Amino acid sequence: MQSYDAIVIGAGVIGSSVAYHLARLGAGKVLVLDRSQIGSGTSTQSSGILRTHYSVIENVELAQRSWSVFNDFAGYLGDEEASAGLVKCGYLICAPEGPKLEPLRAALAGQVAMGIRVDLIDQAQASALLPIAQFDDAVLMGYEPEAGFADAYLVATGFARAARRQGVKIMEGVNVERLLMDGGRVVGVETNQGTFHSSTVISTQNIWAGDIERWTGVPTPVKAERHAVLALEGPEAYSFQMPVFKDLGSPGMLYCRSYGGNQMLVSEGTVGETLAVPDNEQGDISMDYVVEVGEQVAERFPSFGEAGLASSWTGVYDVTPDWNPVLGRLPDVPGLVVGYGFSGHGFKLSPGVGLVLAQEALGLPTDVSLAPYAHERFRRGQLLTGRYGLGAVS
Ligand SMILES: Cc1cc2nc3c(=O)[nH]c(=O)nc-3n(C[C@H](O)[C@H](O)[C@H](O)COP(=O)(O)OP(=O)(O)OC[C@H]3O[C@@H](n4cnc5c(N)ncnc54)[C@H](O)[C@@H]3O)c2cc1C
Repeated sequence: MQSYDAIVIGAGVIGSSVAYHLARLGAGKVLVLDRSQIGSGTSTQSSGILRTHYSVIENVELAQRSWSVFNDFAGYLGDEEASAGLVKCGYLICAPEGPKLEPLRAALAGQVAMGIRVDLIDQAQASALLPIAQFDDAVLMGYEPEAGFADAYLVATGFARAARRQGVKIMEGVNVERLLMDGGRVVGVETNQGTFHSSTVISTQNIWAGDIERWTGVPTPVKAERHAVLALEGPEAYSFQMPVFKDLGSPGMLYCRSYGGNQMLVSEGTVGETLAVPDNEQGDISMDYVVEVGEQVAERFPSFGEAGLASSWTGVYDVTPDWNPVLGRLPDVPGLVVGYGFSGHGFKLSPGVGLVLAQEALGLPTDVSLAPYAHERFRRGQLLTGRYGLGAVS
């Protein structure tokens, strides 16, 4: 049996970030196991949007720390060839009169209190930033210039490459079949390619986190939820200079961003289709659904009333009851640290989450408190539900 100081299960953006940070903190021998390939889980399906806008203040802090990494990915990794594919186009969020107005006001104030630049802008300023949209109904709008989107696959592979450079071993095509326990604590993992010993295991398995429940008996409050993403080809450009846009006034709480040229990437920020079995294979997207989303888009972007469907795909979220992740140790399973349940917004948190999970695994103080993200919050009824209700804006 081979021995390691820490074993990470999963090499998505979260696991790769954990592995890099373990190495950076001097963890010793680190092994990463993924049954597929680096980034090929749900990370490759990400829309890649980066913002610090959240109504849950703990998330603002994690996103703020993460943004500083995205903003200088090569410098952070010490690899001048590393790229996150960052497009720094800003983030514009708007609410009309109605139930989302006060939550937006409070969330913007929370960001400002954290020292984040957020401009409160009027309809004319919004039109200057995003001239293809109309804002007749908008009562409150916030613009975050230090935001945009990036490429989750590049980030996962960037962290993985940097981790490998520091000596981390990453094995792809290795399925972890169970945790090895001795005296009630974790001592390693059994896989389809043998056993690997470690007294510290970090699970970053996303929609497959239900394995933890099967292995330990500790309930895993997560379900796999499929969401559709559309790329619409409009008559005018949605350029890389135009901000990501969050429309709290639309029935689907739409988010939109440039997809290059005249294309807009758009998806709904509401509840998706729950899957009986976790699976990131492509699902069907009906033409009725495309029309329904297209109508919402045309309300805000009138010229996109003539848009065509350029492409579409589905992706799967690991959704918890409060749409926020579970981070940290499981008290009933000494030696196990978990990071799952990112509920459709884990990419923008991945650098910060990787750091704090690595710190927790090594018994170091964490830069951001993990207490609000504890697994026990569900048992204690102390949920981290955001002011916007259920959804990835959280
Ligand atoms: C459609 C869509 C749009 C999104 N848009 C955004 C966005 O705009 N902004 C944002 O911040 N976030 C977004 N997200 C969320 C974000 O992409 C995810 O939270 C993040 O990529 C999850 O990374 P991960 O490492 O947890 O999971 P994954 O990338 O799924 O990695 C988990 C890995 O674990 C491996 N694994 C699981 N079980 C085992 C086992 N037993 N043995 C070995 N390996 C195992 C899998 O093979 C997989 O590679 C979106 C997600 C989707 C689906």
